[in-house]
Formats: sequence, structure tokens, C-alpha cells
Amino acid sequence: MLNIRIEKTTNPKPLPAADDPLKFGTIFTDHMFIMNYETGKGWHDARIVPYQPVVLEPSAMVFHYGQEMFEGLKAYKAADGRVLLFRPDMNAKRTNNTNKRLCIPQIPEEDFVDAVKALVKVDAAWIPTKPDTSLYIRPFIIATDPFLGVRPSDTYQFIIILSPVGPYYPEGLDPVKIWIEDDYVRAIRGGIGEAKTGGNYVASMAAQLKAHEEGYSQVLWLDGVERKYIEEVGAMNIFFKINGTVITPMLNGSILPGITRNSVIALCKEWGIPVEERRVSVDELYEAAKNGTMEEVFGTGTAAVISPVSHLRFQDHVLQVQDGGIGELSQKLYDTVSGLQRGQIEDTRGWVVEVK
Ligand SMILES: *Cc1c(COP(=O)(O)O)cnc(C)c1O
Repeated sequence: MLNIRIEKTTNPKPLPAADDPLKFGTIFTDHMFIMNYETGKGWHDARIVPYQPVVLEPSAMVFHYGQEMFEGLKAYKAADGRVLLFRPDMNAKRTNNTNKRLCIPQIPEEDFVDAVKALVKVDAAWIPTKPDTSLYIRPFIIATDPFLGVRPSDTYQFIIILSPVGPYYPEGLDPVKIWIEDDYVRAIRGGIGEAKTGGNYVASMAAQLKAHEEGYSQVLWLDGVERKYIEEVGAMNIFFKINGTVITPMLNGSILPGITRNSVIALCKEWGIPVEERRVSVDELYEAAKNGTMEEVFGTGTAAVISPVSHLRFQDHVLQVQDGGIGELSQKLYDTVSGLQRGQIEDTRGWVVEVK
């Protein structure tokens, strides 16, 4: 059990008003978790303190070479008052996979989960209760050595902050239009695409702006070598239902292994739906859209759970997915995953963890 010192704020902020839309990532709770690392000493001084600025030297390595990682998960308040997390052990495992790639020290999985639970417990009053709201949890690690040479840092801070968030789609599931990018690339095999790190996001911004200007909300990335095979949507993994089979790009080293992706694959298999994890080319999508076998397209991720896709644009062509509405499987997956997360559906898979 991680030993965490708790220093509560003497100056709590007012909780958001009941009708606050809780725009994603704009409101932060009263407390934060911090733990330090030093080579030779390991992780130490785990503490929960009032939410406050982080003070670093301008020479801190994170500012210059991007040695940082992050995670994203949510806490939910069930109708009976229980506070629930969804598969936090998977976030802990992924943290260590990311850390390995970025030369950041490993964190014991139990310590990661204990830290999340302890902070959520201290700020449990901030978990919103309206339908489809939740408390977003953002763990991250930064390299803090004051040094301008290029090498892994010897000191780090592991920090967790919390943000109450409203429904991703205020009107219920809302199909999005997606831009297939054929010029910029997000990641290549052997790079850092499968690590959850800011570097992948800054690489995506130019294409994101371009897509927005054209009226598309998200970018769908192609492989960085042939620019022919589908990878993912930048903050979501992508699924296609073609002629009764659910198809998603296989994890090839440049795709982020989403926990929602993993859960969706497991559920589809349980429901007897054929699932294929393999390469998917743009040509195959064209063909399926043209011959009417493209039944559903949806993204998966912690923020929106399931994000139905109504249109895909590639170069000068727009592929419409069926009638542009919400597919039957998309809706069922959304209802099931969010029902489990909120304790409305009984968990038989050991996915739901209560914060006590
Ligand atoms: C976090 C993330 C996802 C979604 O992962 P979940 O664990 O399902 O939230 C997908 N792609 C990228 C690039 C991500 O950073």
C-alpha cells in the first residue's frame, strides 16, 4: 500500500453549479497528487496537496526534449452512491509500457491505482452526478532535471489532477465527420505512436487545423510508410462493421492500444460477432462504401466511449456511412460500456473497481 501524506486545502473552491455544462478540461478540483523520483532513491514522498502551480526550473528537461507521458481515465458516481473506476489496472500497465519507450522509470501498478483511488476519494464531492457526466482523471509524469543535454532525466514528478466533465455529446451520441489525412502522418512503426505522450499530439495539430477548416471534426491517420492503411483517430481507435464483421486495425507499434478498444473487442466476441484485428486499407473502405456493405463506423476512447462516424473524406471523395445515423452496434456498445462504468449493468468481468 502506497504511503500517501494528505494535506487538505483550507480554502476549498465552490463546486460547479448544477447547471454548469462542465466543458471538458476546464475545471479542476481542490487537490492534486504528487510523487517524486530520483535515481538511486526511487519514487518517494507521495502526497495529496491543494491544487497549485508546479514550479520548475526553465532548464527542466520536459520543456526541451518532451520527456513526458500521460494517461486518461474517469471516475463515475453510481446511482447508489458508489464511486467507480473502469479497468484502472489497464491504465497502470499502459503507463509502464509508455514509460519503457520514453526511458521514464516504472511505477508499481498497485501504487498507480492506489494514488488514483486516494485522490478521487479526497475529491469525491467533485464527481458530478447528472447523466453522462464524470470526473476525468489525468495522471502524468514529467522529466525535471535542470539540464540541457540530451539523455533521460534522473528526476521526475508523477502528478494526478482531476476535472469534472459534462456529457461528451450533450444531445446524446452525435455522429462525427472524419478527414482521412494523406499528407501529414502521426506516427511510424518504431517511433512513439503506441506511447501515450504529448509528442504524438503536437504531431497531429497541423492536420487537425486543416480538417477543421474543411468542416471535419477529427483526423483519421494512415500508416506513415505507404499511407494506405488505416491507423487511428488521434485520440480514438477506429472500428468498421463491414458485412457483419467488426474490423479494427491491428496494434502494429504505431497505434495507441486503447482500453475502450480492448473492451469493445471483448464485448463483440462475447456477443458472437466476428472480430478481425488486421490491416485495413482505404481502398477496402471505398469498396465497402460503394457496394453497400459498410454498415457502421465508430471511434472508441475514454472521453466519448463510442463516437459514431457519419462521413469519411479522402482527397476529393466523401464516403457516407449508411444514412449518417447511429448504428445499432454503436448504440449497444455505448449503452453497455457506459452502463458498466456507471454501475447500471452488473460487472461480470472484473472491469469495475470501487473506490472505498
Ligand atoms: C488515449 C488514446 C486513445 C484511446 O484510449 P482509451 O484507453 O480507450 O481512452 C486512442 N488513441 C490515442 C492516440 C490516445 O492517446
